[in-house]
Amino acid sequence: MTTVWIAEGCIACSACVDVAPEVFALDAGDGCLVAGVARLDGRNTSNAAERSPLRPEVAEANAAAISEAIAGCPTECIKSQ
Ligand code: SF4
Repeated sequence: MTTVWIAEGCIACSACVDVAPEVFALDAGDGCLVAGVARLDGRNTSNAAERSPLRPEVAEANAAAISEAIAGCPTECIKSQ
């Protein structure tokens, strides 16, 4: 996958951050985000609107961790393409 985003339903449980801290981070509110340092657009948001691709080296290095985070999200709100 080259793009990940957080859809509606995040409960800020931090499971994805624990599994893939280079990609996911808790935000200042009640959700989490796809870290700007991991994205081509550099923004710190859920990436639901932007759908910015991951930086290629980040996507490659974290592929297994991202898959694990997607599988482990309790509300299935981590989306990818
Ligand atoms: S694992 Fe899912 S519910 Fe938990 S913080 Fe990450 S996106 Fe939100």
